[in-house]
Amino acid sequence: MQTLRDYLARACRVLKTDYPEPELNYRQRGTTAGSACLQTWEIRLNPVLLTENGPGFIQDVVPHELAHLLVYRRFGRVAPHGREWQWMMTEVLGVPAVRTHRFDVTSVRARTFTYRCQCKTAHELTVRRHNKVLRGESQYLCRHCKSTLVWDNSAAAISSPCDLTPDQS
Ligand SMILES: [Zn+2]
Ligand SMILES: [Zn+2]
Repeated sequence: MQTLRDYLARACRVLKTDYPEPELNYRQRGTTAGSACLQTWEIRLNPVLLTENGPGFIQDVVPHELAHLLVYRRFGRVAPHGREWQWMMTEVLGVPAVRTHRFDVTSVRARTFTYRCQCKTAHELTVRRHNKVLRGESQYLCRHCKSTLVWDNSAAAISSPCDLTPDQS
């Protein structure tokens, strides 16, 4: 994607380095606009919110997630939206350090429910699975930490690492 390449080129110039282009895919679900997978050097975009919001979505979400990857490469694991990330956004990529998105999530909100596990990964469950949990028919486990997923009522208010979640204000 051109926008991603442009921001990456800018970052490499400013940081005097040569990072590879991250993999870009459209696997982000729920009300989260995008997320960055630090280990796999990958950016996930929410296809529904992208379609609904057009170029403004790309302009907001791509530098936000790219900044997470760049910060990880340069500083290792630090606070998701801390000093390093803000510096990467404003000084390196030249965009405002906005932590949350303001896209309308009406169409994606009803489809999934956010669950949490012990490793704090956010899991989006479909309405069907969510209802099974409520009825006590099923339990779901986190693939990473193997703990049982618990419905997070306040999920939308919590910003999980590397996710660009809705603005609650
Ligand atoms: Zn987990
Ligand atoms: Zn973020």
